[in-house]
Amino acid sequence: MFTTPLYDSKVIRDMQEVVPGLFLSGSQPSESRQYMQERGITHIIQVTDITTPRFPGAFVYKLISVPDMDETNLIEHFADTYIFIHEAIAKGGKVLVHCMAGASRSVTVVCAYLMRTQNLSAGEALNAVQALRPIAEPNDGFMRQLILYGDIGFDVSTNRTEYRRFLMASMAAQREMFGYIKDMTLASDPQNALSGAVTATSAGAAGPTSAVQRRPLKCKKCRRALVAWDSVIYHTPGQGQGAFEYRKRDATLHISEAVQSDISKIQPHAATVCQSYFIEPVEWIQELHGLEGKIACPKCDSKLGTFNWSGQQCSCGAWVTPAFSMHKGKVDG
Ligand SMILES: [Zn+2]
Ligand SMILES: [Zn+2]
Repeated sequence: MFTTPLYDSKVIRDMQEVVPGLFLSGSQPSESRQYMQERGITHIIQVTDITTPRFPGAFVYKLISVPDMDETNLIEHFADTYIFIHEAIAKGGKVLVHCMAGASRSVTVVCAYLMRTQNLSAGEALNAVQALRPIAEPNDGFMRQLILYGDIGFDVSTNRTEYRRFLMASMAAQREMFGYIKDMTLASDPQNALSGAVTATSAGAAGPTSAVQRRPLKCKKCRRALVAWDSVIYHTPGQGQGAFEYRKRDATLHISEAVQSDISKIQPHAATVCQSYFIEPVEWIQELHGLEGKIACPKCDSKLGTFNWSGQQCSCGAWVTPAFSMHKGKVDG
């Protein structure tokens, strides 16, 4: 990631003031109470593997204990870090955001703040930080999360289809790495919402869409509502595609465009070729920690389809990863 001579340079050891009151550094400045106090630091966001603050009485800390890995979910902290920084600066304080090297984790948190406060793209925010701190380089997973953050209008919520797809890819990655899923986030059961007005997943901040207004997919046999339409995932017939696209760092996979093109262009064609609906994992599906399993109706127990976190091939030839498929003959749209 960075070379030793660069790491030894003064810029890298020091901290940089990115915008008035917001500083960025590696671990070194954070180890000296005097250094920080002389520069007026009052608040610290520590994004490291360490779970305790170093000078608990001297500064107000926010600890985010996460590893610097592509798979780490950092975007879920962006709302909190934004508020922490914003409130500290508003009160006349100064905030230091640091990790170990001051290259990936802390830079990601700072970029997220810049994006939201200055309405910058992920690339623009990173350029601004790199101008001050050349080794700034979020890992590929964090960079994708910053891009996603912009795509969802800084609204990190499961109401956002794109965010749910990101969580789905993230769960598949956890399944692959650990053999189980640490953070399970599932699409809500439309049955639970029938008594209320709308489901959480269909009350999208983007406003009503055809997918939202459509009645949920139902079990053909017993008519139980199974899944909302905005949790149905479209793919290009015959091509490899799926939520794992989030794992590729590629501008062509700009996710909001992908979602839109899926719905507007692919659905009519796919309907004629594909024999299954691919969906997000929903609350009522059983034994989701396993690599693969059956999807059975939660009311009448008739077999609807299968899931596999490593993916499945659709009848059209496309690989969908991860895959939760329900046979079109078993459900009514
Ligand atoms: Zn297909
Ligand atoms: Zn049923």
